[in-house]
Amino acid sequence: AWALKNTFQKILKIFSTIGHDYLKERKNDLYHLCERVLRNLTDKDHFNLSDIQDKIVIVAHDLSPADTIQIDIKKILGFATDMGGKTSHTAIIARALKIPAIVGLKSITQIAKDGDFIIIDGTTGKLIINPTDIIFKEYTDKKHEYEYQERELKKYRDLISETIDGYNIKIQANIELAEEVTSVVDSGAEGIGLYRTEFLYLGREDLPTEDEHFEIYRKVAKEVSPNFTTIRTFDLGGDKFTSQLKLSEEMNPAMGLRAIRFCLKYKNLFYTQLRAILRASAYGKIRILFPMISGVEEILEIKGILEEIMKDLKKERVLFDEEIKIGIMVEIPSAGAIADLLAREVDFFSIGTNDLIQYTLAIDRVNEYVSYLYEPLHPAVLRFIKNTIEAGHEAGITVSMCGEMAGESLYVPILIGLGIDELSMNPLSILSVRKIVRNITYEASQKIAKDILQMKSGKDIEAYLRIINERKDERRIFGKIKP
Ligand code: PEP
Ligand code: MG
Repeated sequence: AWALKNTFQKILKIFSTIGHDYLKERKNDLYHLCERVLRNLTDKDHFNLSDIQDKIVIVAHDLSPADTIQIDIKKILGFATDMGGKTSHTAIIARALKIPAIVGLKSITQIAKDGDFIIIDGTTGKLIINPTDIIFKEYTDKKHEYEYQERELKKYRDLISETIDGYNIKIQANIELAEEVTSVVDSGAEGIGLYRTEFLYLGREDLPTEDEHFEIYRKVAKEVSPNFTTIRTFDLGGDKFTSQLKLSEEMNPAMGLRAIRFCLKYKNLFYTQLRAILRASAYGKIRILFPMISGVEEILEIKGILEEIMKDLKKERVLFDEEIKIGIMVEIPSAGAIADLLAREVDFFSIGTNDLIQYTLAIDRVNEYVSYLYEPLHPAVLRFIKNTIEAGHEAGITVSMCGEMAGESLYVPILIGLGIDELSMNPLSILSVRKIVRNITYEASQKIAKDILQMKSGKDIEAYLRIINERKDERRIFGKIKP
């Protein structure tokens, strides 16, 4: 083992001096190979998530989004990790797959031991090791109550998302995998507001071909029609990596060559995906969403590329939606600040609060040490949201929100009050958000939004919202409860 490690270090040095980025990155493959040999040499079992047979809870230092999508929920009852934040993609995937999970526990791997009996309460972020009979009973009851509430919410499935005084919004779903679409349509979503297509690239050895993209998008769009499927072009980088692409090691991957920056640099991958999306647009209602836009030039460049592809498709007599709507994620503060300039160039905005909060407050969304500073209600964030909605409406375009903030029940009155047109969220939250929308008035929501914009901190705003929320049960602010 010692000899192997030494030799590996030497080879690693050679790889680090290679000028060619792609070859240089192969050192990661070497690393995995070396780790594997080492595990065999030292008789340590290799742990593959897909090999797990028993019903267990995973306790790990970290799980990547690529690990998480491999989880088979029939075998893995939940997971807890030391690392991560609430809006990390690992947490987002866990919600999408309905896996009870807690991330960012800092030292859980040092506390929990093999064979422990573990309760994971994902709703409150509590993990209990070897509970007493009384606590076990309490949590079994909680589980039943949760399942009962879920059944109760089903009556909102086929109702429209309209306030008591007739203000309509659309509640849509975020998806990461095409396989989710049937259950999403079933869950009462009014379309897909965010399809994170980067997950097509994860956990595989090769790159998806144009036909592969096309078949998947066509299937999803057909199933979701007559509602829209909003396909976001791939947003790799940040905390989502794939082995086939030469995403170089960067000091700050969240601010590095990710998403649209990567696409505009390595255009052939972008062309492949855009051609496939356009071809699929002949079979269902599709909108295209571009991530991580920071300024107007990027949009102009994208439009140029789209025009070129459309010309080619016409030449080839391939059908596509010539009026296809294009939109951008407003998730970088610069985009929030110049929303008026950007609004003239696109058909819709989608506010990505996960990144908008990260970049506005300089809080790494996957870092558990600063997660206490991750405040969706920070006045700076709310001002960006307000500015984006106002600029969008001034230009006559739709403004959506697809960050995790959109699915938080407590924030719904603010977002309605600020005039949001669509909320896209993890499918689990759709019915509880619809219930709230149907039980509030637009008028009261506007007043709430006006009030909170005067407040000086996220903590004050949250406290105010909690009081209002309690009053809601007394039906004082929100008026008569609709079914
Ligand atoms: C966001 O940033 O809010 C968003 C929806 O995109 P992602 O979480 O994939 O970065
Ligand atoms: Mg984002």
